[in-house]
Amino acid sequence: MGTDSRMRPLGPGDRGPAVADVHAALRSLGLLPAGTAGAEDEPLEQAVYDPATELAVRHFQQVRGLSVDGAVGEETYRALSEARWSLGDRLLHHDPERPIRGDDVTNLQDRLHELGYDAGPVDGVFGPETEVGLRAFQRDYGLTSDGTCGPATLRALRQLGRKVTGGRPQLLRQSASFLESGPHLIGRRIVVDPGHGGGDPGFTAGETTEADLVLDLASRIEGRLAAAGATVYLTRGRRQNPTAAERTAFANDARADLFLSLHMDAHGSEHARGVSSYYYGTGSGASSTVGEQFASLVRREVVVRTGLLDLGSHPKTWDLLRMSRMPAVRLDCGYLSHPVDRLLLLDARLRSTVASAVLAAVQRLFLPAEADPPTGTFVLPGRV
Ligand SMILES: [Zn+2]
Repeated sequence: MGTDSRMRPLGPGDRGPAVADVHAALRSLGLLPAGTAGAEDEPLEQAVYDPATELAVRHFQQVRGLSVDGAVGEETYRALSEARWSLGDRLLHHDPERPIRGDDVTNLQDRLHELGYDAGPVDGVFGPETEVGLRAFQRDYGLTSDGTCGPATLRALRQLGRKVTGGRPQLLRQSASFLESGPHLIGRRIVVDPGHGGGDPGFTAGETTEADLVLDLASRIEGRLAAAGATVYLTRGRRQNPTAAERTAFANDARADLFLSLHMDAHGSEHARGVSSYYYGTGSGASSTVGEQFASLVRREVVVRTGLLDLGSHPKTWDLLRMSRMPAVRLDCGYLSHPVDRLLLLDARLRSTVASAVLAAVQRLFLPAEADPPTGTFVLPGRV
């Protein structure tokens, strides 16, 4: 702890400008009702740490998970100043000299994470990692990638809404307004299936396994789709390796509208590279029309956005495609055995781009035909 820890805590009976400051913070959080302690026109010198102040401080400490003692020490004081900021109150950017702190930064970090961007720890401090995550989001959504969270970025974040991760009332409110804006993926159930897992690492490139990479990719896709209103399920966690039958049964039980399985390829020849996709079909008649359509959409979106080689879409009768009762597609996203493909796939930015491509493909699949945008463009929910 630095010199701050020597700050004497403010508590019952204290008075003066420091108490007036606490009153102002509590009032801005709606914790001090009008007519009680700390009225707007309170003379600074006469501000008193009365029982109403103590009650409000206890309330604040409880909600924030601080130790509840009803006094304002260093920790509570810092939390009070940070809580005064809500997203949109000020421009947020990375200042290496005096890093910006506050609940608005926490909120931004939270949202970036939910959308599948790595913005570092959610700690309320706008650090270099927050900037990297924000720039990636801005780039993917066609905004100026300046690392500053201003009005245009806020608008994009708002339009994307957010998935509800808990019972916190402000989240439920946002979710309700998101429903009203009518994004087209609301009500769609999508199962994302990262291949391999558990004791089966798939292809291994150095310390990185196909199983880990496709799980990372699946989580990014989950964030994107959920932010656009879809309900998303992953077939496995890090430690599991379900059989093909278990994966399809999971999707069938979830009554999914769409099933997307993710793999990366490897080949003995180091020249093999590129992206291919597979849908159910015998190659001579029987095939899944929607599956074929989505296989083509997702492959083309990935190719256009990443520059990976296009290897086409192909009908297959694999169990994974055959036993699922909804359109099912397997995407083989690049060759871990190819030096350039591998470098790209190991880059989290490329995996974010692939996640954006999948979102665009899903949107195109479920969008009315007249609203279908050209490949490589992106539709924000609520604009259609
Ligand atoms: Zn694989």
